Amino acid sequence: MKTTSKSRQQTLFLSPQDIASIIDRVGISTALQGMASYIRQDFLRWQSFDKSARLAAHSKDGVIELMPIADANTYTFKYVNGHPKNTAKGLSTVMAFGVLAEVDTGFPLLISELTLTTAMRTAATSAVAARALARPNSRVMALIGNGAQSEFQALAFHHLVGIEEVRLFDVDTRATTKLMRNLHNNPDASGLRLVVCSSTAEAVRGSDIVTTVTADKTNATIITPDMLEPGMHINGVGGDCPGKTEIHGDVLRAAKVFVEYEPQTRIEGDLQQMDTDFAVTEIWRVLAGQVDGRDNDAQITFFDSVGFAMEDFSALRYVHDLAQAKHIGAAIPLIPVLDDPKDLYQLIRPATPVPMVQAIEMQEAFA
Ligand code: NAD
Repeated sequence: MKTTSKSRQQTLFLSPQDIASIIDRVGISTALQGMASYIRQDFLRWQSFDKSARLAAHSKDGVIELMPIADANTYTFKYVNGHPKNTAKGLSTVMAFGVLAEVDTGFPLLISELTLTTAMRTAATSAVAARALARPNSRVMALIGNGAQSEFQALAFHHLVGIEEVRLFDVDTRATTKLMRNLHNNPDASGLRLVVCSSTAEAVRGSDIVTTVTADKTNATIITPDMLEPGMHINGVGGDCPGKTEIHGDVLRAAKVFVEYEPQTRIEGDLQQMDTDFAVTEIWRVLAGQVDGRDNDAQITFFDSVGFAMEDFSALRYVHDLAQAKHIGAAIPLIPVLDDPKDLYQLIRPATPVPMVQAIEMQEAFA
C-alpha cells in the first residue's frame, strides 16, 4: 500500500488484542489459511530475500533473538525469546514483537505484537510443510507438548491438512487439560477428535504425523527410532536452539530431512546433532517443484522446524494487510513529526524561544 506523506508520519500499532480481533473477525480457519498462503507465496520467491541466520544472545535459562530479513520493498525484524522456565514465573516461554518498514525510506509502517502471531505463523508453516511432505491421506496426528503453541498446531493440521484425530501427551497433565478445555466442544475444532494419552509412545503409535512442540533447554530424545512407523511425517517444532533438541539422531538418519534455511538449522535445529555433511533439503525447493518431497509412501519424512525470519515477514505482511482493510489498530507517533526534517532540535527547544534580535546578535558574535 502507498502511504501519503501525512499517514507516513504515523506507525500502525497492533496489540495482542488487535491481533485477536483480526482472528475473530476472519475466523481462525481463514486466518490460518491466509497466513499459510502468504508464507507459501514468500517461500516461492526465496531468491528475492536478503537472508541471514538469526542473531542469538544465550544465557543460562534461555535465549533472546533478533530475526531480520528484507526484499526490495519491505524490511522486517522480530524480537523473540525462548525461556522454558518462564511459565513457572507467570511469563510465556516465547514472547515476541516485530516491525515492518519500507525499504525506500526506512520508515516503520507497523509495530506489532508477535507472540500470538508467532503461534499462528508457526502452525501455518508446519501445515505448509506437511502438505508437501506427509502422505496425503494422513488423518491422525500425535501432539507431544501441549503448551502455548499446541492448540494452533492442532487447528492448523485439522483445517489445512485434514487431520481428524489428535493424540495428546505432555509431561505436565495440566497443559493437556488446558488444551482439552480450549478445544473440546469448540466450534473451531468441530470434527476433530482429541485423545489424551499417558506417554509419548502411546500417542505416537498409529499416528500418520507426529508434532513435537516441547520446551526444555536440554538435548531431549522425545522421539526415538523404535517409535517410527513406515510413512510417518515428523514435524519437529521445539528443537530450535543450540543444546535444545527433541529428536534422537537415529530418527534423522532414518528419515528424509527438510529444513527452512539450512545455515540457521545447522546451528539450532535437531540437525545440530549431525555431521556437517548430513544431507538436508530446504523446503522452498519442494514447494517450488524443484525437488521431490517424500519419495514413497513408506518413507519417514522429518521437517526440522526452527522458525525462520521469512515466516515472520509473511505474518507481518498478512496482519498489516488485514488490519488496514478492517481498520484495526492505533496510529502512534513513534517517529518524530518535524516541520523541518533537518531541525530535530525543535523537539527539545525551550518553549520560549530566544528573541530574533538576540539570535542575530549571537550569530554576529560567532561570525
Ligand atoms: P510452553 O512452555 O508453553 O509449552 C511447552 C510444553 O512442553 C509444556 O507444557 C511442557 O510441560 C512440555 N514438555 C516439556 N518437556 C516435555 C517432554 N519431554 N514430553 C512432553 N512434553 C514436554 O512452550 P510453547 O510456547 O508451546 O513452545 C514450545 C516449543 O516450541 C518451545 O521450545 C519453543 O521454543 C518452540 N517454538 C518453536 C517455533 C518454531 O518456529 N519452530 C516457534 C515457536 C515456539
